[in-house]
Amino acid sequence: MAENDNRIKDYCGIFGIANHKKAAELTRLGLYALQHRGQESAGICLFTNGQCELHKGMGLVSDVFRKLPKEWWKVPQSMAIGHVRYSTSGSSSLVNAQPFMVELDTWHLSLAHNGNLSNGGVLRNHLKQNGAILQGNTDTEILLHLAARSHQMGTEPWDSLKSALKNVEGAFSIVALCEAGMIAARDPYGFRPLAMGKLGDAVVFASETSAFDMIGAVYERDVEPGEFIIARENGTIESSYFDFARRKAHCIFELIYFARPDSRVFGEHVYHVRKEFGRKLAEEAPVDVDVVMPVPDGGIYAALGYAEASGIPFDMGIMRNHYIGRTFIQPNQEARVSAVKVKLNPINEAIQGKKICLIEDSVVRGNTSRERVKTLLNCGAKEVHLRVSGPPHISPCYYGIDFPSKEELIANNYSIKEIAKLIKVDSLAYLSLEGMLSCVKNTLPKDYCHACYSGDYPVKPALICERKSK
Ligand code: SF4
Repeated sequence: MAENDNRIKDYCGIFGIANHKKAAELTRLGLYALQHRGQESAGICLFTNGQCELHKGMGLVSDVFRKLPKEWWKVPQSMAIGHVRYSTSGSSSLVNAQPFMVELDTWHLSLAHNGNLSNGGVLRNHLKQNGAILQGNTDTEILLHLAARSHQMGTEPWDSLKSALKNVEGAFSIVALCEAGMIAARDPYGFRPLAMGKLGDAVVFASETSAFDMIGAVYERDVEPGEFIIARENGTIESSYFDFARRKAHCIFELIYFARPDSRVFGEHVYHVRKEFGRKLAEEAPVDVDVVMPVPDGGIYAALGYAEASGIPFDMGIMRNHYIGRTFIQPNQEARVSAVKVKLNPINEAIQGKKICLIEDSVVRGNTSRERVKTLLNCGAKEVHLRVSGPPHISPCYYGIDFPSKEELIANNYSIKEIAKLIKVDSLAYLSLEGMLSCVKNTLPKDYCHACYSGDYPVKPALICERKSK
């Protein structure tokens, strides 16, 4: 199966609202609050006058919807779903932008999806061998094809979608819309977050609760792993389960890096957990320095925790330019390195003559860390000690996060001592796996996925299984 597996990784933000006459406008606002989860494309599917209407395009939320006529937002409406996505290399095109919309019997079915299917490559090849025509290379299309194949004429599309979800494995949080209502569902492991809230009589779903804050909605609970919720146009809700988890596997990297610090994810306040990572790191890897300094924005909260726990002053020595996107989600290494230069600028006065404990949330390939350390030393830092608020990355992610291949991960190729030499720091330490997991309080540590740090994959990717059996 591997030779034809050109699927992309879809790391995205999703939003949905039912029973609100400003559904489209609120979805747009919700997507603003999820923009950090993807900046390549955005889209909204709106239920108006008994039918679904889709608008999507390339770029930020502000770009994609700017040119829409004012009337589009004012039509009679009750439900909408929305999506922002980031793309992996080579996949940045409108054909992969979401939501996707297809015709199913007499229905329109629109789908927005966050995550990656670990058996997506196998399913994709199977579909193609059986005559399916696929436009893009996202897993979302696979879900729609599977739903179409199990659809029974005359029935609502819910059962078809449910049966499609039973046949896929890996990470998926979805919102879907058709003329009969809206769906929110989450994979049985709960890899990606999906929260449910209320706004008056309206029901709202979003990848992160920061989207609820944006529109004044109140968080009610998470959509449970394996849960399938139908929200009707009038706001009524029906909950059922399409599968039950063998185990839960929430993505710990959401707490380390991806989610916004003002969000609540997997029942945890991201801000608190990030500070706890820093406190734990200070306990595990103390160092005698003048100042604790974060690499913004990712390292800020762990650095606050480190400074509080160690009693060493916290200072900002690196300025972040907020008008450039996340470097992690730039599609290639060249773009990432040049984005780092544009994005982060040193404050000489805060750095010169100082012994610095620099806090990063992760070191993936090591290139950007090396650049940063070089900059600090050029500014006259006396010593730079790097502390990372997560364990070393040793394995790729098969559930939607675009880490490089195992071969490109610096911690997979070198020891911690060797990495310290390569990026030219005076010392280097990572938070331990046990230390990281001890910082989550509302969910059991065993309910987290940490495969990119441990190699322990909760769902064996079909790719690995097939390679092993050869
Ligand atoms: Fe998250 Fe890492 Fe697991 Fe991927 S492998 S889901 S990034 S914890």
